[in-house]
Amino acid sequence: MKIGCHISVAKGFQNASRRAEELGAASFQVFTKNPRGLRPKKIDYQDAERGVAFCREKNITLVVHTPYITNLSTPKADLHEVTIRSIKEDLHIAETYGAVGAVVHCGKHVGEGVEYGTRRMVETLNEILSEYQGSTRLLLENTAGQGSELGLAIEDLVRVREATDYPEKIGFCFDTCHAFAAGVWNEDSFDDLVQTMEETGYLEQLVAIHFNDSKAPYDSRKDRHEKIGQGEIGASALSLFLRCDRFEGLPVILETPVENETEYAEEITYLHQLKDAETTA
Ligand SMILES: [Zn+2]
Ligand SMILES: [Zn+2]
Repeated sequence: MKIGCHISVAKGFQNASRRAEELGAASFQVFTKNPRGLRPKKIDYQDAERGVAFCREKNITLVVHTPYITNLSTPKADLHEVTIRSIKEDLHIAETYGAVGAVVHCGKHVGEGVEYGTRRMVETLNEILSEYQGSTRLLLENTAGQGSELGLAIEDLVRVREATDYPEKIGFCFDTCHAFAAGVWNEDSFDDLVQTMEETGYLEQLVAIHFNDSKAPYDSRKDRHEKIGQGEIGASALSLFLRCDRFEGLPVILETPVENETEYAEEITYLHQLKDAETTA
């Protein structure tokens, strides 16, 4: 398991990768560009190359996250076009940084209904991926089901992937907080969750885990991250993930709220303790 955290890329990619090592992170995540914006980004290829070499030398795994304001299911022609252009660019950036995956949130149907939203998501994914030949996979992230968000259930995510023309270019990122808030799992149903992941083929395509506690209760459909052990999921439920051999080897990335990312060093240490602790069952 490669425990790590989200890191700012504001001072360049090489800087971010060095920061990851300083924090004791075996994996990390950066945004491809401003998370609330879609402005194209100037890539500093030399900086990227140095960061990639550093990560390779230190055996650090990278995942990137695409901006939130794209919508794979939008009925609006202009946002549809922007979404495609932006995510294509994100995939290029992800490749340049040597990322194993580029996380994208599932679409929002914005009142058009689940059936429309799902069909539109598949169409948009096809348009994004038709000419893409890179090795970084686009990772569909499960949502908390806020508003009209699609992609709460493991089965739905698998269905979307398989409905596209390019399933081999798509993988999954599982967010523990979103899934809890969507009513997909809690401590009692952890084994069922893993079984569903196995039976549907989801697990085989799982590339990364977003590891967060939740401020909002189970099945609340609210996306509010919390520090590990301080939220509604709790440390004992979350440590089930850390100790489950099915998730061994995957990047496990904290996106918990911090004032300063140096706080992640402590939280990463805490996760290693939870993973290694004897179960008192
Ligand atoms: Zn996430
Ligand atoms: Zn979230």
